[in-house]
Order: sequence, then C-alpha cells, then structure tokens
Amino acid sequence: MSFASLGLIDPIARTLETLEYKNPTPVQAQAIPAVLAGRDVMAAAQTGTGKTAGFALPLLQRLVMEGTPLASNTARALVLVPTRELAEQVHTSFQTYGAGLPLRTMVAYGGVSINPQMMRLRKGVDLLVATPGRLLDLHRQNALKFNATQMLVLDEADRMLDLGFSRELDQVLAALPKKRQTLLFSATFSDPIRALAAKLLVDPLSIETAPRNTTVKAIRQWAVPVDKKRKPELFLHLLKKHGWGQVLAFAKTRKGVDELVALLEAKRIAVDAIHGDKPQPARLRALERFKAGEVKVLVATDVAARGLDIDDLPVVVNVDLPIVAEDYVHRTGRTGRAGASGEAVSLVCADEVQQLAAIEMLTKQTLKRVEESGFEPDHRVPETNASGQIVKKPKKPKKPKEARGEQRVVTEDVRFRR
Ligand code: AMP
Repeated sequence: MSFASLGLIDPIARTLETLEYKNPTPVQAQAIPAVLAGRDVMAAAQTGTGKTAGFALPLLQRLVMEGTPLASNTARALVLVPTRELAEQVHTSFQTYGAGLPLRTMVAYGGVSINPQMMRLRKGVDLLVATPGRLLDLHRQNALKFNATQMLVLDEADRMLDLGFSRELDQVLAALPKKRQTLLFSATFSDPIRALAAKLLVDPLSIETAPRNTTVKAIRQWAVPVDKKRKPELFLHLLKKHGWGQVLAFAKTRKGVDELVALLEAKRIAVDAIHGDKPQPARLRALERFKAGEVKVLVATDVAARGLDIDDLPVVVNVDLPIVAEDYVHRTGRTGRAGASGEAVSLVCADEVQQLAAIEMLTKQTLKRVEESGFEPDHRVPETNASGQIVKKPKKPKKPKEARGEQRVVTEDVRFRR
C-alpha cells in the first residue's frame, strides 16, 4: 500500500518521498483515511509505530484543504501532550510533515515565559501543540479562545492521566466546542482511558495495532537481581562488559539520577540527565546532545521519558523499575524500533518484587533473570511469574536469639494452650 492510495495530497506525498517513508505503517494505514473522512479515532499505538504521522498527516491535509482564515487568539487544531519534550517533538514532526504548506503552527508548554506564546497567538494559529497546564493558563488569560477549534488530538492520553492531568483535561474539554473531530492516541487502553474515550469520542474508529499491553517482540528483555545499594556499580559493570554504545537509563527519583550521573562522571563517561527539576532548555540540550552522540549515557526519570524520540537506540536499562507497570512498556518502547533489535535490562532489588510481578503480569511474560557474578544479592529477589504472583516469600534471615524475643514466644505459647 502506498501513501498516495490513502488519499494524501501531492505536496504531502512529496514530503514523505523526501523523508524516504515508502509505505504507511499499520496505524497510519488505518488512521489516515479515517481522519481525512472526518471520523473520530481511538488508537492504541506505542511510540515507534509511526502514530505521530498517523494523526499529523491527515490533520495537516484537512487544515490546508479547509483553508479557513485565522481569527486572532484561536487555534483551529489542538494537540495535547503530557510533557514538554513530547510537545517539542510532536511540533517538530508537524513542521517536518507540513513543510511547504501555508500553515501557522506553534508549541506551548510551561516552565518557559508565557509572553512570547501569548504574542504568537495574537494572529491565531492553524495548529497548536501544548501541554494541558499551559494551555489552560493561556485560555484563562484570554490569549487563547477555543471557539474556532475544530480538531483535537490527545496524544499519549494514558500518560496524561498517569501524570495527574485529568482535571486539566476535563476543564479543556468543557471549554471546547461540542462539534469537533477528536482523536485519542494511547500506548495502552486501560479502563480510565476507555472511560475518557466514552466521554470524548463519537462513533470512533478503534485501532489496535499491537496486542494490548505487550512490549515490542524484537526487544530482548532480561533482569539482573542485585542489592539496591549496588545498582550504580552494576550499571557501570554491565556498560563495560557488554560494550554498549549508547544507553538510555531510567531511575526512579532525581536522587537516583544524580547518584548514577556522579558515578559515571567520576569514571569519565559522557553522561547527561533529564528530570523534572531540570529547566526546560537544559533538558532539551541533554536530549540533543544524546541524539547527536555526544553523550553515551542519558539518565532520565519517567516524567521526562515520555516522548523521547531517539532512533536506533540499542539499549534501555531500568536502573529502578517503574512504579507504574505501564511505564515499563513505554520505557522499553525506546528501543527495538521499526523492527530493529534492542535490549531492555532491568536491575531488580528485593524491594521491587511487587513492581516486577506487576510488569510481568501486564506484559504476560516472566523476565529472564541473569545473575551477574560478583553482584549476587544478599537480599534475594523472590520468584515471580507471568500471572503477577510472587511464588515464594524470601526466607527471613534468622535473628540471633535474644532473651526478649524468647520471652515473647513463651507468652504466646502459654496463651495458645489456654
Ligand atoms: P512515532 O511512533 O510517531 O514516534 O514514529 C517513530 C519513528 O518512525 C519516527 O522517527 C518517524 O520518523 C518514523 N516513521 C513514521 N512513519 C514512518 C513510515 N511510514 N516509514 C518510515 N519511517 C516512519
């Protein structure tokens, strides 16, 4: 199947030729004709499936073909995304796919000055990519009215809910015109997502390109049991042992990120970090340096992780397991793209067994465990299985007998015998 057969106009088809996109991906093949026909769409598609072009191409075409003049302080199409990085990335995709089209686009997110965004909105825009919080700020300050908005995209909707944006979303949705086209993209169709879809979409085309909640098969996934305090050291050991080129590493907290960065820096390994406390320009710079190959290890927290578009990344290391099991799917989605093989390694300590079980249940697989010689944990990680069960509880280390402890046992025995 070719892009032309999906009904895309010449200027867009030519841009795709320049980009060397030969054939549409499955999500594109289904979404593009439906969006062009004006239908609502609900698509379960992870990063790496080509979902961005799946909504961006037909949206750009509709905006050009309808050619409505711009009214000041309005946006004809709105794309809502959970993070600043994803906002930048999706906007860049719109610019790439829309090269040469007479459209005015912009991106808006928090953490940077609102004034330039307000200035740009004065003339109105065809398309605005934004994070929910900043979008509402612009709306409250009358810099953005929603009356001319005809199209709405929620990208990575599951992540928006995970990040606690559901109130903001409700407020935006309440202010938007009822008559509009709405597209919802989400890595997974969880129950809250289905509930959101039921509120938002009218007779949507439902697209599920990958089986529900499965990680991409080409990725080799394994886990290394280790004690918590030895994780940074083990990371360094694995990095050297496997000769990994570039690694995206995930830590749970900012402290964990800083610890790993400090260790790698001490070993003169080119490293940078992305976490929520870092100012936006520094986060973007870190990402650019990583993409350009200047940085060997990029350490990130989940909040910052969504939407990192890095092609051909061979290795993702979960230095800490994510709290939310779905984030495991998002994290590993950074590797093994477009059929390339990838590796996702999780360093797992005994405290994380519940998270491990939740991940295995979600992805319907038991992660293969590979012990690393010299790093065998003192605190054993209990066995788990793909049904999300923890098979055996770890044996409690025997406590040295103390007079007080014995006393308590005796008392209980006595009570029992009564
Ligand atoms: P996405 O899932 O939207 O994050 O896209 C993943 C990557 O696939 C991006 O780097 C796109 O540039 C690329 N891509 C999207 N569609 C196609 C296509 N039809 N052919 C080749 N590459 C594509």
